[in-house]
Amino acid sequence: MTVAEHRRPDDEIGDDRWDHLAEEHGPSYEKHAWKRGRKGPRKRSAGKVESQGPPAQVLTVGARRCTVLWREEKVPCRLPSSLSVNQQAEVAVGDRVLVEKDRGTCWVREVQPRDTVLSRPDPRNPRLQRIIAANMDTVVIVVAARRPGIRPGLIDRYLLAVEHGGARPVICLNKIDLVPPEERSADPELALAQPYRDLGLEVVLCSAKEERGLDALRAALHDQLCVFVGHSGVGKSSLINALHPKLDLDTSPVRERDGTGQHTTTRSNLFELDEGIRVIDTPGVREFGLWNLEPAQVRQSFEEFLPHAAACRFTDCTHTHEPQCGVREAVAAGEIPEQRYEAYRRILDSLEE
Ligand code: GDP
Ligand code: ZN
Repeated sequence: MTVAEHRRPDDEIGDDRWDHLAEEHGPSYEKHAWKRGRKGPRKRSAGKVESQGPPAQVLTVGARRCTVLWREEKVPCRLPSSLSVNQQAEVAVGDRVLVEKDRGTCWVREVQPRDTVLSRPDPRNPRLQRIIAANMDTVVIVVAARRPGIRPGLIDRYLLAVEHGGARPVICLNKIDLVPPEERSADPELALAQPYRDLGLEVVLCSAKEERGLDALRAALHDQLCVFVGHSGVGKSSLINALHPKLDLDTSPVRERDGTGQHTTTRSNLFELDEGIRVIDTPGVREFGLWNLEPAQVRQSFEEFLPHAAACRFTDCTHTHEPQCGVREAVAAGEIPEQRYEAYRRILDSLEE
């Protein structure tokens, strides 16, 4: 699939919308972009773009440079200072950019508005968002049935982050081979995944080791740009490799040119598997942590609580200790799964730590 084909109608959004948002919200707009439904920085231009052609897609980002997929070739590009000054917010793997060639050097001139993002706060300045990946359709949250087992609190926090960024979450429950088939229906660990199914989320059972469930995973990810996240050791790399047994990250199928026009091979962080599945795989994505949420953001994120929260006595009810709490009543009445409420409490507690 070419980059052009990957564009969605959404991409046609004009600059005016971004300029308008930026005007309205000023520089702080970017910090809170996820709240407004559209993600990432407003369109930035580092000068007049003369020969833009089709947008390219960022494959890797380094200091003041990046590699893009442009007209089906990997092309190294320089980043102008306007984009590299706050690079971790300005350019991310998956970004669609306009590229210009100037005397043999390719420059990124403009980052197009993002459809989705995966972001986390800068460790040194939590008010700044670092964009880890952009424009993915789906984030696969990988957990393991055993070794280390499912931690619902972690799934819940990933879900919040993914949903804030606008991508579709899919839960992949890997290492299913470690639970004997006859025990699966009554397995307490596997039962932890049921509330997510009840919420309408896709939960795919897999074994990367025994190559089971991979067709279902392929079907869920068909024609999507994906990111795999999850605790280390749950099997993310094993799954990516199992989805594409011939995948060799060092011999990417995309032709690559260095500055002199010679073809070279280097590792790509955005690569294509079978079935049109494209994967962003960078250390940043793998180490993806979770940012600090405000309690009010957590409340909003548990969408199924909202209708019940209307019955709370206090409009700013935290659903923890207040009298006449519609949410706790709904939990007691079995209308909200206890596990979801516990997840909510765990996330709130983790914010206080
Ligand atoms: P990552 O850190 O999430 O990328 O995890 P890896 O893919 O490196 O896998 C971590 C360990 O789990 C390795 O020893 C794998 O062989 C093992 N593993 C991965 N998938 C499976 C699976 O489906 N079943 C079993 N039994 N082990 C697996
Ligand atoms: Zn309440």
